[in-house]
Amino acid sequence: MKLIILDRDGVINVDSAQFIKSPEEWKPIPGSLEAIGRLAEAGYRVVVATNQSGVGRGLFDMDTLNAINEKMIKAVAAVGGRIDAIFFCPHAADSTCECRKPKPGMFREIGERFHIDLAGVPTVGDSTRDLIAGVAVGCTPYLVRTGKGEKTAVDPELPAGTKVFPDLAAVASHLLSLKP
Ligand SMILES: [Mg+2]
Ligand SMILES: [Zn+2]
Repeated sequence: MKLIILDRDGVINVDSAQFIKSPEEWKPIPGSLEAIGRLAEAGYRVVVATNQSGVGRGLFDMDTLNAINEKMIKAVAAVGGRIDAIFFCPHAADSTCECRKPKPGMFREIGERFHIDLAGVPTVGDSTRDLIAGVAVGCTPYLVRTGKGEKTAVDPELPAGTKVFPDLAAVASHLLSLKP
């Protein structure tokens, strides 16, 4: 089974320092939905792993987070794509939970849910913590320059071997050009 693990804010949709607190604030990055469509068509299961500390901070509630994710799922489906699962950490940034990236808890859960070893599974993020979490379970790190990615590209903490692409569309094109 082919799997890919994506961060949400700054990878699929435009990020905001003020958090994405409502479905209206959720706006796709151009080409990202179609990229998910192409990956799904090529047999990839597409999983999202996202820190959503706005829940823990009381900026929005679970119903709202679900509504935002529902909008994303529908937008992807409208272009023929599919998101197979969304894992999120709702805890505040000062939480000691195991799921908030850079901790790898969500990635471990994904491996268990899909019964696969995540070694070599591509993971795409715009922040160093996304990639640190993925690398901890053996994922191959891809940084996009969308969202916080332009700043992240010069972060000395970036995992060794991180591949850098302009956006999710470029990552998808690269992955789909690889021989199986
Ligand atoms: Mg992000
Ligand atoms: Zn958490």
